[in-house]
Amino acid sequence: MIKTRFAPSPTGYIHIGNVRSAIYPYLIAKQSGGKFILRIEDTDRARYVEGATELILDTLKWLGLDWDEGVEVGGANEPYYQSERKDIYHKWAKKLIDSGRAYADPTPPEVIDEYRKADNAKKIPFLYRNHRPKDTPEWHEGIPLRFKAEPKAYEWHDEVMGDMHSGPEVCDDIILIKKDGLPTYNFAHIVDDAEMGVTHIARGNEYLSSMPNYLALYEALGLERPKFLSLPHILAPQGNKKLGKRDGAKSVTEYRDEGILPEAMLNYLACLGWNDGTEQEIYTKDELLDRFSIDRIQNSGARFDETKILWMNGQWIRKIANEQGIDALYARTAGFWPDSAAAYPDAYKKRVLSIIYDRLKTLSDLRDMTDYFFKNPKILLPAIVTQKMLKKLSEQELIDLLSAAIEKLQNIPDDKWSADTLQAAFNELLVETKKKPGEFFTLIRIAISFAPFSPALNLTAEVLGKEATLARLNSVRTALAND
Ligand code: GLU
Repeated sequence: MIKTRFAPSPTGYIHIGNVRSAIYPYLIAKQSGGKFILRIEDTDRARYVEGATELILDTLKWLGLDWDEGVEVGGANEPYYQSERKDIYHKWAKKLIDSGRAYADPTPPEVIDEYRKADNAKKIPFLYRNHRPKDTPEWHEGIPLRFKAEPKAYEWHDEVMGDMHSGPEVCDDIILIKKDGLPTYNFAHIVDDAEMGVTHIARGNEYLSSMPNYLALYEALGLERPKFLSLPHILAPQGNKKLGKRDGAKSVTEYRDEGILPEAMLNYLACLGWNDGTEQEIYTKDELLDRFSIDRIQNSGARFDETKILWMNGQWIRKIANEQGIDALYARTAGFWPDSAAAYPDAYKKRVLSIIYDRLKTLSDLRDMTDYFFKNPKILLPAIVTQKMLKKLSEQELIDLLSAAIEKLQNIPDDKWSADTLQAAFNELLVETKKKPGEFFTLIRIAISFAPFSPALNLTAEVLGKEATLARLNSVRTALAND
């Protein structure tokens, strides 16, 4: 059975570059009926950030990456916080001590620094195995425990990077257990992956250079190697560097709060560095589970592009409205409406949504794009008289056009106020006033919305209703007359 894991460290907010290392192992496990584990690697107490674990859990839940084993849900290999697994690491460390492959290192940090400086001065690589202490005390908590490396060449296969090899010069006496008794990442992840039965390790390729030391540890502990997937970095929008917080890499929850849908985020991140060889860009989670394959993960960095997320989110907004219905989309919009909408019933907001959704890139666009459906817009005559399409018309012509529209629309009986009747009325007005559609429709649209754009005029007027539409046309006509 395939078992994968996401093993984040709660050392800061989890930005979207990190989340892809959760999506790929999730897909790999779940597409084969395997298990996905969530383990929190919190042994670096100096870098521990309060609240970071909660953010990780929120992010995974929001994206729908449910885990089968791990923190909160439990499982056969509890606990899943590394800080609570000290005894387990000590038990495994003992094996290495007993077989002569680990030693307690009493060397003070200042002395280690001197070794490093001396080697640098001699221009030779600093390898700790050249400075092993002569006398090593019995190991106990409070003294770092080091691996006793054997210089050896290694070969291994990386499912993403291909066949790899390394020379003996990179094997070193890495620290296994720190002074505080907690293990380093280098040791802890090997113990945990073995205890938890992890078959595939998918992680960022920054760990690639440490692979020889990991392979030496598997060997010394008599463990079978799992499969390795080193995922290339996600690149910043510019340049050739890894996406970082300074390049505007936000946390996934920030995108959520800006009105990005989880489906779109999952889709975007899954396709950042993977494709199925077709032109398809929009994938549901089920489609990803169906199509994802390790051999199509790219081995070069994929560039982060926020405009693509926005595009994809727009596609997903339409997809949900069209396939699941406006009610389903509406259910996602709580918290994204302008304050002015608070007093309006759901039914009205749903109607607004149904005519505007295909223009939304994020749900928070609702805030700016729908205000005029809920309160009378502020009348700004310059917005009319200086409008490119309307500049040629005198104020009197504008007033006359508004009067013609008011008269025509007033005659539509209340129960006939519909998009179709309104379209017919507007078409008649065009013929009667002999104005170009660009002029006539622009005037009416601005007068009822004062927004830079709005859905089709007949739909906007239908949703606004007869009373509000006529009141707004009247107010603008009065304002022009008094100008
Ligand atoms: N705790 C490591 C990190 O957050 C995880 C690396 C791994 O997946 O093994 O970078």
